Amino acid sequence: CGIVGYIGKRDSQQILIDGLKKLEYRGYDSAGIAVFTHNGLEVRKSKGRLAVLEEKLIGDALHGSVGIGHTRWATHGKPSDENSHPHTDNTHKFSVVHNGIIENYLDLKDELVAKGHHFLSETDTEVISHLVADEYDGDIVQAVQRAVKRMRGAFALGVLTEFEPDRLVAVRYASPLVIGIGEGENFIGSDIPAILEHTRNVYILDDGEMAILTNHSVELRTINGEIISKEIFHVDWDL
Ligand code: GLU
Repeated sequence: CGIVGYIGKRDSQQILIDGLKKLEYRGYDSAGIAVFTHNGLEVRKSKGRLAVLEEKLIGDALHGSVGIGHTRWATHGKPSDENSHPHTDNTHKFSVVHNGIIENYLDLKDELVAKGHHFLSETDTEVISHLVADEYDGDIVQAVQRAVKRMRGAFALGVLTEFEPDRLVAVRYASPLVIGIGEGENFIGSDIPAILEHTRNVYILDDGEMAILTNHSVELRTINGEIISKEIFHVDWDL
């Protein structure tokens, strides 16, 4: 339901939580974040309000300057800690947040289970993290492109891999996603309020488009890989 992502130099945890708070008006049943820490990609998530997640983070904070966050409105699988996003693969090297629905997730899941993947949740989303891991051969952008071509439905995605900690990949297909352009830092959000505190310069992705963010660049492509250019949209309103 709500997506926030950050890549830059600041500690990301509070930026993610604050961004998710700005999306609370949309409603949600659980929340979670994934951050690159010195121990690798770590996830904290829980059923319930953001306050429950914040409680969990007290004394167990995630420190790192790259992360993704999500507030979930369950479509597949009940609200629970396990079904909350971000989702990972079995190696815990990949992390995904997703808004929308993957219609063919059962077919994809059967195929991945036959290949030896173990699923920890009942969600449609978890197939994405396993699929991206399965398609990965050294380039996260190509892995995401191959994965999304196999997915039917609606999705806005934020994807991180421990193998490429300097990149954050975002995709939009039939579920909104914007990219916030900062200085030495960049953002993703499922809606402008999530990032407006940090920047007024955004790219509004269209269906079938993706963005590859580093802390000093944003590259826009189609999900087929063609590089595209887009006007920066200047947000001239306040919350
Ligand atoms: N279909 C996904 C789930 O049930 C994502 C729902 C959402 O957009 O929050 O976890």
